[in-house]
Amino acid sequence: MSEKYDVIVIGAGPAGYVGAIRAAQLGLKTACVDAFTGKDGKPALGGTCLNVGCIPSKALLDSSRQYWNLAHNLPAHGISVDNPKVDMATFIGRKDKIVKQFTGGIGQLFKANKVTPYFGTGKLLKGNQVEVTAADGSKQTISATNVILASGSIPIELPFAKFDGKHIVDNAGALDFTEVPKRLGVIGAGVIGLELGSVWRRMGSEVTIIEALPDFLAAADADIAKLAAKEFAKQGLSIKLDAKLNKAEVKKGEVHLTYTDKSGEQQLVVDKLLVAVGRRAYTRDLLADDTGVKLDERGRILVDEHCHTGVDGVWAIGDAVRGPMLAHKGSEEGVAVAEWIAGKAGHVNYDTIPFVIYTEPEVAWAGKTEKELKDAGIPYRVGTFPFAAIGRAVAMNEAMGQVKMLAHADTDRILGVHMVGPGVSELIAECVVAMEFKGSSEDLARIVHAHPTLSEAVHEAALSVDKRAIHKGN
Ligand code: FAD
Ligand code: NAD
Repeated sequence: MSEKYDVIVIGAGPAGYVGAIRAAQLGLKTACVDAFTGKDGKPALGGTCLNVGCIPSKALLDSSRQYWNLAHNLPAHGISVDNPKVDMATFIGRKDKIVKQFTGGIGQLFKANKVTPYFGTGKLLKGNQVEVTAADGSKQTISATNVILASGSIPIELPFAKFDGKHIVDNAGALDFTEVPKRLGVIGAGVIGLELGSVWRRMGSEVTIIEALPDFLAAADADIAKLAAKEFAKQGLSIKLDAKLNKAEVKKGEVHLTYTDKSGEQQLVVDKLLVAVGRRAYTRDLLADDTGVKLDERGRILVDEHCHTGVDGVWAIGDAVRGPMLAHKGSEEGVAVAEWIAGKAGHVNYDTIPFVIYTEPEVAWAGKTEKELKDAGIPYRVGTFPFAAIGRAVAMNEAMGQVKMLAHADTDRILGVHMVGPGVSELIAECVVAMEFKGSSEDLARIVHAHPTLSEAVHEAALSVDKRAIHKGN
């Protein structure tokens, strides 16, 4: 007899492991199947996010920021260091330790919550059975009343710049360079290109980013994208827009690139090439032919607004389904699905999901951009406030960027908040709370904000919507 569960989750990334823990908390007998193996070849829970995504990238962003500050920020504080050195084994090893701590932590959380882990590839069979194939090829079949598919995503590969793991790499490769590449090429000025491009630029690489679109950070508010572009250029990140890669050839340990921009065909030679042109849903070996689960035109698992696939008891969440590919989006879907399965009122508000880019300065936003409001014909008022007028930001020597708030012209309801500047990854949370509670700019304007903090930029931007900011002309 195969083991029977209330819920089987396939995939232990931030969507799957969080969904599994919530299901177990709700008293459901839960298993979670995952196929990821870590750098040591052993099973590692936590998916892309913990192993080769959010967490390791932030570890390297922080280490590289400390190194960059030695030459670019500390002198302004009157502090100088002669001949700073980088020990690459420690630089990468610290990141690996953090990854191990967190992937191991998921195992402990599973134990504490009584989630049964299965290590291997899970395939959904008809009738909510799941066949698990372990690394040694052995198979077992388990079954459940409900199966949650959370198989995540993988990097998109360009046919003319195939990953070789050595010279042409994806995110995992760029998190593991054993030495600082003298010249780093990056294809795609999206989130990964900017974050990992920043890591290696700060460590001393000459970084050139080739982006196909004519607009920089097209998904962000245009004013914020413009300010961010200016700061990145100052740091020496060379970003070529409206540029299309034609060819990448590895010759004698170098990568020779041919790309076309407005001026015609261009050549570039780099030591390493990071291809970061987006990710696609991963569903290989996930579904038997007769399950009835459908994929959409982009290969994502087709779901309704409740993450249900249309097949009785089969749900799908995270990067494998529509919506932004963000860890927190997947986690909230995991919680909601577990709650729907348990007969409770699950909830995900897709309109207030925060987006953050962990560059320096950071970029963060939630809600509509000014262009989206204009295009939709929604009347709005704008409030802005620069970090240059924020005492705390000046004291930190990080007074760049601004907060921009968009509120409905008639009701004053906050429709979007966009920021570039120091610490905005944390400041956006206040705005998300206000938007979630359907707050107005006046609500934020009337709330006492501690002085001197970076959050005063949010307060002043809210005041500025009504043209009554105190520390700037209106
Ligand atoms: P995944 O994390 O991809 O996990 C899916 C898991 O399922 C994997 O372990 C996979 O091996 C397993 N699996 C797949 N198929 C099967 C199968 N058939 N059987 C068993 N197991 C299977 N997002 C943020 O919100 N903030 C960030 O700062 C951030 N930084 C990132 C940095 C980088 C470099 C990258 C690449 C991504 C980053 N992301 C970030 C995106 C984030 O990692 C993803 O949105 C998130 O991991 C998606 O979660 P998921 O659980 O849907 O899928
Ligand atoms: P992305 O979608 O953010 O950016 C890809 C970029 O590549 C786009 O600007 C696109 O126009 C460009 N592009 C596509 N094809 C191209 C080509 N042939 N030549 C040149 N440019 C091309 O994707 P990503 O940076 O690979 O990241 C993947 C996902 O991971 C994203 O959806 C993102 O949400 C997630 N992620 C999030 C974070 C974060 O939240 N801080 C960090 C990293 C990754």
